[in-house]
Amino acid sequence: MILHKLWLLVVVSNTILAVCTGQSIPARATDSKMLSETYLLKPDRVFDGETMHEGWVVRVNGDKIDAAGPAASVPANGAEVVELAGQTLLPGLIEGHSHLFLHPYNETPWDEQVLREARSLRTARATNHARKTLMAGFTTVRDLGTEGAEYDDVGLKQAINQGIIPGPRMVIVTKALIASGSYGPKSPSPDIQFPQGAEEADGHDALIRAVRSQIGKGADAIKIYADYRWGLMAEAKPTFTLDEIKLIVEVAKSSGRAAVAHASTAEGMRRAILGGCETIEHGDAGTPEIFALMKQHGTALCPTLAAGDAVSQYRGWKKGQEPEPARIREKRVTFKQALGAGVTICAGGDVGVFSHGDNARELLMMVDYGMKPLAVLRSVTSVNADVFHLADRGRVKAGLLADLVVVQGDPLADMNALRQVRLVVKGGSRYKP
Ligand SMILES: [Zn+2]
Repeated sequence: MILHKLWLLVVVSNTILAVCTGQSIPARATDSKMLSETYLLKPDRVFDGETMHEGWVVRVNGDKIDAAGPAASVPANGAEVVELAGQTLLPGLIEGHSHLFLHPYNETPWDEQVLREARSLRTARATNHARKTLMAGFTTVRDLGTEGAEYDDVGLKQAINQGIIPGPRMVIVTKALIASGSYGPKSPSPDIQFPQGAEEADGHDALIRAVRSQIGKGADAIKIYADYRWGLMAEAKPTFTLDEIKLIVEVAKSSGRAAVAHASTAEGMRRAILGGCETIEHGDAGTPEIFALMKQHGTALCPTLAAGDAVSQYRGWKKGQEPEPARIREKRVTFKQALGAGVTICAGGDVGVFSHGDNARELLMMVDYGMKPLAVLRSVTSVNADVFHLADRGRVKAGLLADLVVVQGDPLADMNALRQVRLVVKGGSRYKP
């Protein structure tokens, strides 16, 4: 049984003191009930993170996968058998790039969300987003920045981990790091300073302090913006110098954490790769030379195809009726170049730009842009787990966390199956969407 200490908050002349009373309260009854539960899932087929297997079953015990394999080799041992005819079981999907504190920009532009929405409002929305993400079969998210909501991802993650609200396991980066002046919201006048969607820091001492402070507050990884649209012409240009990026990476790594980079320009990508960032987000203006460099350094690309697709439509493109705008055509080209160079591809859509719960949109687009369906399934499970250093999930294997999703149909035959979620399992607990 998990015991939680009871703490008493005492306020003495504006100082809050936390006093441990020494009493204990039991873990939530639902949690302890789940810990002892055993059941056997019997779908038509199981994708184990690498390969599709017809006729496999999976036995869950407590919060772990107890056994997985051909039905004849995995007996139910008297446990409940869950018949899942016509369905496919996969590892719980891993969203590689989300912003649970953002909602679609066609509802409210990003600037207005950052500048005009109360953090309490944004948190209330984030709890809905977390639930929708989990019900879509995504049992883990790498949430890449609160975009002005300070450290509120820390509390959201705690609320999910403590069973207060349903949601995915979270890998968080808190505020993310930007070079001074480079990010947004943009002020209309140099005389007016707007609050920013991430933390500004530059140079040796300030960067070290910012990285350590974000880690201290709860960051699992450090996100930087290696380039951004800045200056009067709002052109995408590199921000941090190579030395600054190397420093950020060194300080993050010395605490066992990775640094990841938003980068769209070739030069921003080059600095992020050489600086030691583990993933590059977007990578729109990558070149064959840059993708070869990524392959050489083992840097993964999170292409966020769905974000560009969504933004183009918000700007008026009528998808399916009008020809694809230049931005989309170019993205198809660079994505193919990355695939051709053998770059590791993470699945991550930049969800938040579009609706939470519609995470599968990115996976459908990866197929549409030329990636093989089997590679897409690997990307959103075992590849994301490996790249994000999550050794306890991403595969269907005895001993790993019982984070699973069951969908109607066969996603290898039609990726739309990933939108037909029938059952979500997180840490052994079952959720019916
Ligand atoms: Zn993003």
